[in-house]
Amino acid sequence: MLSRLRRLTRSTGNLQPGQGMVSGVIALALASMCFLGVLAFHFPQYLTTPELRHNYDVAIIRQLMFVALVMAGGLSLFNILFQRSAWLAAAAFSLVLLTALLGGHKVPVGDFADGTPYIGLDWFILDLLGSALIFIFIEKLFALRKDQPIFRPEWQTDFQHFAVNHMLVGFMLLATNLLVHRFFGWAANDGVRGWVASLPLWGGLLLLLLVSDLVQYWLHRAYHQVPWLWRLHAVHHSVKHMDWLAGSRLHLLEVLLTRSVVLAAIFLLGFSKEVIDAYIVIVGFQAVFNHANVSVRLGPLRYLIVTPNFHHWHHSQDQEALDRNYAAHFAFIDHLFGTAVHSANPWPKRYGVLGDYVPNGFWRQCKFPFVWNGIQSGDRSAER
Ligand SMILES: [Zn+2]
Ligand SMILES: [Zn+2]
Repeated sequence: MLSRLRRLTRSTGNLQPGQGMVSGVIALALASMCFLGVLAFHFPQYLTTPELRHNYDVAIIRQLMFVALVMAGGLSLFNILFQRSAWLAAAAFSLVLLTALLGGHKVPVGDFADGTPYIGLDWFILDLLGSALIFIFIEKLFALRKDQPIFRPEWQTDFQHFAVNHMLVGFMLLATNLLVHRFFGWAANDGVRGWVASLPLWGGLLLLLLVSDLVQYWLHRAYHQVPWLWRLHAVHHSVKHMDWLAGSRLHLLEVLLTRSVVLAAIFLLGFSKEVIDAYIVIVGFQAVFNHANVSVRLGPLRYLIVTPNFHHWHHSQDQEALDRNYAAHFAFIDHLFGTAVHSANPWPKRYGVLGDYVPNGFWRQCKFPFVWNGIQSGDRSAER
């Protein structure tokens, strides 16, 4: 069973319908999330995110977990009874049993102190569940490349990036806060901060989106044009199949650097908490949506707002699109600075780094910026 499971997690492509594979994978995914959830219930001080748990209702999480357990248990029992990929169903059912034995959705959570070092396991589970539900649905409804399966090539690499980026949320928050206050603390001006904090929600939000996008635009250009920054950013550009998971492929140092610089701007201008919360929701959605396998161009609005079409072009290997379309929220910034793609084709042909010199695999990509000899020729890497 274990070797079959290992083979399954290493495979790509469409799951054979009608053999209990689709329902089996759904059951296994739900059961795995429930198992991780029960661990988080037992060790909340080490496995949950303070910023998140102060904002969600544990009673709802318990109900959600109960529904997921019943679904995973029901699906796997059905498949075992009718001999539909019984090995997969048995694996899912064992996880459901183990989760139930550990207390399931009923594990009591007592008082515990904030301030312990932690892994954002709750953030990983909830965002994975929410994003998968929302974006797989949208991708099925508005598919750009209809023949691209959910488990497309290299999905494992991006899934690992997704997991690590989420679980390290505590470390990231701590590190970015330290960096921002260490390097920019002196520049904060109470007059400016007071004025910005007094803006109404919509005014503040628009200003924040504009400021952060201008900052990100120039930082993004630097990632493309400064050779040592490109080493980090090439990892993000190495995805060859665009979908909701593809945007997670980011080198941790790039995440740290980008977040610190954008947070510094937010900190210096002193936006209110409501504005920052709304901004985080928009950024979170747009960052995933812009990579999604969806056919969205938005007509003339595409000159104003960054759409999946706009960002797909940024990931293109087509000559006319190299080092273009840098913006993250407002497409007009690239039109303003003359870096927008103007193509006769509606969508790019190929994605990835020209020359395909970034290796596949999470650990190899973590190491890539430090070990790449940078002398591959015949592509734009030679210029960098
Ligand atoms: Zn880029
Ligand atoms: Zn991207």
